Formats: sequence, C-alpha cells, structure tokens
Amino acid sequence: MTELFPARHFIHDFINQDIEEGKVPHKIHTRFPPEPNGYLHIGHAKAILIDFGVASEYGGLCNLRMDDTNPSKEDTEYVDAIKEDIKWLGCDWEDRFYYASDYFEQMYQFAIELIEKGLAYVCQLSPEEFKLRRGDLSTPATSPYRDRPIEESLDLFRRMRAGEFENGAMTLRAKIDLASPNFNMRDPVIYRINHAHHHRTGDKWCIYPMYDYAHPLEDALEGITHSLCTLEFEDHRPLYDWVMNNCSVPYKSRQIEFARLGITNTVMSKRKLRLLVEGGYVRGWDDPRMPTLAGMRRRGYPALAIRNFCERIGVSKSNSTVEFAMLEHCVREVLNSEADRAMAVIDPIKVVLTNYPHESELLDAENNPEKEERGSRKLSFSKELYIERSDFMEEPVKGFHRLMPGGEVRLKFAYIIRCEEVVKDEEGNIVELRCTIDPESRSGLPGANRKVKGTIHWVDAKTAIPAELRLYGHLFNKENPDDTEEGQEFTDFVDPVSLVIPKVSYVEASLADAEVGVPYQFLRQAYFVKDKDSTAEKPVFNRIVTLKDGFKVKA
Ligand code: ATP
Ligand code: MG
Repeated sequence: MTELFPARHFIHDFINQDIEEGKVPHKIHTRFPPEPNGYLHIGHAKAILIDFGVASEYGGLCNLRMDDTNPSKEDTEYVDAIKEDIKWLGCDWEDRFYYASDYFEQMYQFAIELIEKGLAYVCQLSPEEFKLRRGDLSTPATSPYRDRPIEESLDLFRRMRAGEFENGAMTLRAKIDLASPNFNMRDPVIYRINHAHHHRTGDKWCIYPMYDYAHPLEDALEGITHSLCTLEFEDHRPLYDWVMNNCSVPYKSRQIEFARLGITNTVMSKRKLRLLVEGGYVRGWDDPRMPTLAGMRRRGYPALAIRNFCERIGVSKSNSTVEFAMLEHCVREVLNSEADRAMAVIDPIKVVLTNYPHESELLDAENNPEKEERGSRKLSFSKELYIERSDFMEEPVKGFHRLMPGGEVRLKFAYIIRCEEVVKDEEGNIVELRCTIDPESRSGLPGANRKVKGTIHWVDAKTAIPAELRLYGHLFNKENPDDTEEGQEFTDFVDPVSLVIPKVSYVEASLADAEVGVPYQFLRQAYFVKDKDSTAEKPVFNRIVTLKDGFKVKA
C-alpha cells in the first residue's frame, strides 16, 4: 500500500485521495511523454521535475516515453538530445524507456474492438466537408457515415491499414456525441491515413492514431497511475476517460493537469524554437540564448538552479508568465557559492608601471571566498597590465572612486597604483596609462592595509590570454514575443544585440586550464563559462549571468 505524501500542491491532494479511496493498486507510476520533434525547453523541465518528482515522493516510478505517433517530424537526434537533457536534470527512468510506436499494433486492435462494439466508424467526409459539418454550440455536427454497418467499417478500416486509400480519403472516428458542447467529444477522429515513413516503424503503417486516442492507451498499457500534463489537455480529459472506459485496457489511468510555464522575453514552443534555428536567428538548438535545456547548459546554468527555479514557481492550475529575472536569480544563487573567482578584462586599456622594480612576481589570490577549502592560485604581476577601460575616467564625475589622473586605486590582490600620465594617439584616444605603484602596499608588506577608495581588477599583459567573451542578453526585446499584431512575426522581436562580442578581451593565465562547462565568476563582471567553441589559441567564454540581481521579491 502506497503511503500518503504531505501535500504541497493539488497533485498531491488528488493522489492522496486516490490512495485513500483504494484506487491505486500498485506503486504510483507517472511518465514524461515528449514528442521527439525538437529539443526540450525549460517548460519541459517543469513537467519533467513534476513527473519524476511526484513519482519519487511516493516511492514510485516514472517512465520516459517518446510520443512518436506523428510520423513525419521525428528525428533520432532529438531522441538522444532529450535523454541527455533529462539525465542532466538529474532524473532517471532506469530501464523504462518506451516509444508510443511500440504500441501501434495494440492500438489497432483496440480500434477494431471499438468498431465491433459500435463505438467507432469509418467516415469518408473530406477534410473540407468535415469542417463544414462540425456545427457550432447550438448545432450538432453531422456525418452521413455515422450509422453505417459495423461490418462495413471493419472492412474499410482493415483496407485503410492495408494501404488501399489515399491520405485524407477517410478517417476512423469514435462514436461519442455529435451534439456535445465539448467539441473534442463530437465523434473525434482517432485514426487518419498518412503514407509517411516513420523513424522507427518505417513503412509498416500508413494509418496513425491521433494523440487523444493514443495517449490514454499508452498510459494504460504502461500501468501509469497518474498521467500529469498541462492545462490545454483539460478539455480533452473526457475523451481520455472515454478511451479508458471503452477499450478493454489492463489499467485505468487518471489524467491531472497543471499550468504551463511561460517566461518573459522568450518563446516556449518547439515549433517556434525550430523556426529560430532554421531561420538562422540563433546558432542552433543549444545556442546559449535559447530557452532550451541544451542552450541553458551551454550557457552555464547549473542544473540545480533550474531545479530550484521549478521548485519555487510551484505547481498550480493557472497559467502565468514568470520573470526571466527570477530564473537568473536562481542561477546566481547557485553560482555564488559554486563558481571560483578569476579576473578578466573585457575592454582593456594598457597600464605601464614606471617604477615597478621587478621583472615579475607571483601573487596569491583566493579562489572562492565562499569556500575556503578551494584554496588559492598564483597570479602573475609585471610592469604592464590591462585594466578595464571603464575603470578610468580622465575627467571623473562626482562619486567616481576608481582610477583618474593623479588618483589612486588598489589593484585586487596586488598594489595601490597612482595614475601619473595619460598617453593618447593622434586622434586623442587613450592608448596607455603611465602609473606608479606604492611598493609597500601589497599583501604581506607594511602598507597592505592602507585604504584607498576603489579596488579594481586587472590582468598581467605578459601572461594574460586573449579570449572571446560572448555577452548575452535576452533573445527577444519584447516581454511577450508571442503577442503579435497583424503583419508581425514573433521573429520581428529577436533582439539584434542579444549577443555582443567585444573586440579584444583578456583572461588571467590560470584560465588556460579552465574546462568547458565549469563556471567562474570574473570579478566585478559576471559569471562566465568556457564554451565548446574554444580552440587552443583562443578560448571562448559565455557570459552566464551578470552579478547584479535585478529580481525583486514583491512584497
Ligand atoms: P511545445 O508546444 O513546446 O512543442 P508540447 O507540449 O507540444 O510543447 P511535448 O513534447 O508534447 O511538447 O511535451 C511533453 C510534455 O511536456 C507534455 O506533458 C507537456 O504537457 C509538457 N510541457 C510542454 N511545454 C510545457 C510548458 N511550457 N510548461 C510545462 N510543461 C510543458
Ligand atoms: Mg506536443
């Protein structure tokens, strides 16, 4: 007997109720049923974490099932990507990996059963006629084929399977209620003819079951106790139950719906994401600007941050859009303690230390102030450095406490310097700052604690590595890109500066050992992660998220 689980949301309430009423004969069993026609996005992550999460809370099981009833679109690249993403999120289907297409023969037999029971018939209305006869709220739908003899439907359905008819020539319809106020119940099509190659069954089938008919059967055949899905299926639940009740299935599953996840400044439909990829708006499904799990992983979002995010947004019955900033907040929260620190200069200006007495030195720098056990590294320091262009102002505004002519600033982990001279080229651009150091001011020397107002980051020009830094912003410059007016496309709102790559950037020498996928905090800048596009000559780093948190918890 399955134990109750302390309810945190309504799905727990429903399941607890089923357990108490003795309706759950075996372990709680859920499934995640992606259609392999694209990569998973963060909306799917919500569903995955609910499906696998609820099962594990009750000590139950969750299957992974590829919903491949639609033959033309599926691709094995997607199947592999889906598996990888789910594993990355930390969910495990163990040996329970299925394809809906595995059940095609059983689904066909259930259809024969329905016809024999007088509960399904072959309808020869053309798609146009079908539409014209759909009726409206006050008028029932009609079909002249509804009352044809069972034998005739059986014969036609067998011949449909045998490939005798063209696409669209006829369909198999469930005989339910042509006058139902719920249009899903107006004798819905459950099989259609489609002479298309299927990625697993090849050319074996030319009739394919419709989702609303196939899905309940898949659930029933796998002994799924609770079939958790998104709200748009709520109106389809009567049909789900009808199939359960009228086919002699081994188990009757219960469908429970929850709200879809939407996030600002992005789109969340695979169809649209595919258009972005195919239209060249992004550099692939795993482009770090994409809301796909592959994109977020490449961007450097930790799986834990996505899990925390999904936990926090909760499970409810009303669709809502969550601020992107809340996701970023969850990312920062994990990275703040996880990411080691390093220094990088994104837009450099050269500093020459005129009185520096050494060739070079190695200075100690702690790796992570949140985690002492991560220890420290050696930073090389020499006569020529780069600092951030924005850390110098020739004519400082009020409140500017960094480097200025005649002013002092501390170089993080190193000395205090004073700007003595600004060197410009013929056009008046600053090319170099000539500075002096206070030789007593670094750690371990008497002036180590001398206070100046600003501390800035830097890299040693001798050893720093030129790197490509990819600075990402929102992919869309509109809060809801799905909200388009006549003549507009959602792609019109793709932000042209959603990716900015500064001309020359430098990272500290220790990052030569950085691994792809391991996040760093570049001091005073942002979190970054090394990208797979890196080469031996030029590492590439993706900006994961800036340091400043724009997310405000509303009172
Ligand atoms: P899309 O419209 O993005 O293609 P889909 O629902 O067609 O999404 P499926 O592969 O059929 O994609 O979805 C698999 C599961 O993920 C379904 O149970 C679906 O309800 C759930 N899901 C899809 N999108 C979201 C979302 N934005 N929020 C929560 N769950 C989602
Ligand atoms: Mg779908």
